[in-house]
Amino acid sequence: MKVHEYQAKEILKGYRVPVPKGRVAETPEEARRTAEEIGAKRIVVKAQIHAGGRGKGGGVRVVDDPAAVEKAAREILGMTLVTPQTGPGGKVVQRVLVEEGMAIAEELYLGVVIDRSKASPVIMASREGGVEIEKVAAEAPEKIVREWVNPAIGLRPFQCNKIGYGLKLDPGQVAKMRGVITGLYQAFVEKDCLLGEINPLVITQEGDFLALDAKMNFDDNGLFRHKEIAALRDFSEEDPLEIEASKYNLNYIKLDGNVGCMVNGAGLAMATMDLIKVAGAEPANFLDVGGGATVEMVKNGFRIILSDPSVKAMLINIFGGILRCDTLAKGVVEAVKEVNVNVPVVVRLEGTNVEEGRRILSTSGLRFTVADGMKQAGEKVVEVLRTGSR
Ligand code: GDP
Ligand code: MN
Repeated sequence: MKVHEYQAKEILKGYRVPVPKGRVAETPEEARRTAEEIGAKRIVVKAQIHAGGRGKGGGVRVVDDPAAVEKAAREILGMTLVTPQTGPGGKVVQRVLVEEGMAIAEELYLGVVIDRSKASPVIMASREGGVEIEKVAAEAPEKIVREWVNPAIGLRPFQCNKIGYGLKLDPGQVAKMRGVITGLYQAFVEKDCLLGEINPLVITQEGDFLALDAKMNFDDNGLFRHKEIAALRDFSEEDPLEIEASKYNLNYIKLDGNVGCMVNGAGLAMATMDLIKVAGAEPANFLDVGGGATVEMVKNGFRIILSDPSVKAMLINIFGGILRCDTLAKGVVEAVKEVNVNVPVVVRLEGTNVEEGRRILSTSGLRFTVADGMKQAGEKVVEVLRTGSR
């Protein structure tokens, strides 16, 4: 789960990470009043969307007075912001963060993620933070300092020093940096984060360290023990079909292609996406109906896939194990009663109760093409996409 910058900053503040004075606003007038309260010489107005790259996309504006804040907020609120991270459709801005503007001497990068290969969190830091960090990572990875933390031992002060001196900061700066690293790391662990990132972490002209931007992603599997985090979820930032799917415990992720995929098991779902690509098409979604899927879940999965207007063909690829083929078939029959299937469907069915499953499907009234094996499934999908035949 993602949260907005202003929410992430609020959390980090609770861990003694210094952040600029500011507040979120939903109207231009509110933005102006907030600016008047802050009373700083320079004010920053920042679009709040669940994606980075806002600076480059025109979603961050530095202005001089409350009237200019109101004007900037009026322009940003309601705009569709397109950044390298939003996808081509962009995201509509519903809130802005109004903040005291900082006189920046330097922009650093600081982040924590899980390094799966080492089964531990890794802290990354760079002297060259800011909007070009992806470029630094790609072209000059040696400019990024990495420190792995043994999760059983926890972060030790010497590791913060290693990071600070690794960045060639002076001793006074290392002490300030240590506070920020410790706070970010503690928040990361205690709130079950997948990502905690401060970019830029700025050194002001007065020599203070401040989190100018903040990003936190949370592990959905840990949300049950963080009600206060779960409450921050912003449904308007999420794909409506993904929200719908989560109601039925379906692992559904919307993608950019046009082949709807109905698969059981995450591994088979990944393999199916690969095989569609190899065959020359693009998947419209990832969907793992899960091992213990019921008729109800299959029905809803089918319905959700078909309600995506970009779906031009559908591939049902099921290996019946715990989810038996007849259960799948019954779910499809239920769905076909409710929704109008207006795209070609390719079915590859194997495993437990496959004969029964095929029999149910063939008498369901659904017109579909049978594929024999994985490879043929991909080829047939491409063929029906091309001919549109059903
Ligand atoms: P992102 O592009 O979505 O990551 O948004 P950021 O919050 O990181 O802002 C992008 C850039 O805007 C930063 O790297 C800064 O250069 C600039 N910026 C943000 N806040 C301030 C500020 O208070 N003062 C100044 N001068 N620049 C700022
Ligand atoms: Mn940033």
